[in-house]
Amino acid sequence: MRYAPALSALTIMDGELQPLSRLPEDWERALARHGGPRYRARQVFRWIWARGVTDPDRMSDLPKTLRSALAGSVPALAPPATVVHTHRSLDGSKKLVLGLADGAEIETVLLPVARGTETLDADAAAADDDGDDEDGASADARADARADARPGPTRRVTQCVSTQVGCAMACTFCASGLAGLRRHLDASEIAGQVLLGRAACGPDEVLRSVVFMGMGEPLHNYAGTARAIRLLSHPEGLAIPLRRITVSTSGLVPEIAELGRDFGGAVGLAVSLHQADDAKRSALMPVNRRYGLAELARALAAYPLPPRRRITIEYTLLAGENDAPEDARALLRFLRPLRAKVNLIPMNRITGSTLGPPDPARVLAFQRLVTDAGIGCFVRRRRGDDVAAACGQLALDPTRSAPRRASARRARDA
Ligand code: SF4
Repeated sequence: MRYAPALSALTIMDGELQPLSRLPEDWERALARHGGPRYRARQVFRWIWARGVTDPDRMSDLPKTLRSALAGSVPALAPPATVVHTHRSLDGSKKLVLGLADGAEIETVLLPVARGTETLDADAAAADDDGDDEDGASADARADARADARPGPTRRVTQCVSTQVGCAMACTFCASGLAGLRRHLDASEIAGQVLLGRAACGPDEVLRSVVFMGMGEPLHNYAGTARAIRLLSHPEGLAIPLRRITVSTSGLVPEIAELGRDFGGAVGLAVSLHQADDAKRSALMPVNRRYGLAELARALAAYPLPPRRRITIEYTLLAGENDAPEDARALLRFLRPLRAKVNLIPMNRITGSTLGPPDPARVLAFQRLVTDAGIGCFVRRRRGDDVAAACGQLALDPTRSAPRRASARRARDA
């Protein structure tokens, strides 16, 4: 099959879609217009997403004419980001600082845990919406247990990815929120973080789960997030099961419904709640002024969770702000209609905020109030805070965040 000249550098473009954002069916459409067989589309997709190869010259089972067309395509078939720095934490987590084509930088974090210890690890609780919820007796959990018994990599990695450069939501305790929104990432830039993350895994590590909890509000960039999920979970590519993908939101109600509809509830859902009193939550998280707690609870109750799965409620404990017994009781009232578990996250200190974590006794007292009510409640072990990779610490370099105040103000006014 000859592709040139019909499949020229320009005609291989498929509208505005970046080549790395294309699913096999998008590649099929792009190639079919020029008489290319369907299986070529799957081959290209597999090279990129199963093998991590973006250099057409290395796609050895493609005809030379197709390789040349891909190499000359505009926009280019190039890695969506490059690793600028790797920060290694003493606890084994790694933060990758990634440079994008336009010069913006984002961060992604790899969190390894030893096989078989995930449910004991509190970080896993954030990432642990992988089918072994409830009592761990689900079919998925049994399959995982069988996999654990086989020889293989000894550490499973959860990767936390970013969805925006900065964030417009302006949560007062979050470094990304302080920086403001610069732009959305496209699907290739979101899913591409996982290609780079997989390449950065050690020989004893396997990338197992992905959480959309890095810089940005994933549901504010719904189109990019949804397409990235499709890229990551496609069986011809990385094939990460939907149950091992978790999206975290500050509470964008219409998009929670959209996520539920688009993926049938199979994608794990986490909510950054942090306060269960409307007035106090609005002060911490401006998004609450638009979607109050009652509306949020209705959206969560309607999320089509599979049997045995739970929504993860993330609750960053801030000394003197939301760590009192009455705050725990408000949280319990919010949780009453929901199938949910709670992750307590003692705040990681960030530059530019006077907020800080409560002392450990207060954290334990809060946890006890929630667990005594029969709700699963875990205290997330700190990971990566020596390299500012911990929750709420992912941020733009403030010296490159000129628009931050304006966009934070826009979000507050929205
Ligand atoms: S907590 Fe999440 S939604 Fe809020 S500012 Fe930070 S990144 Fe954005």
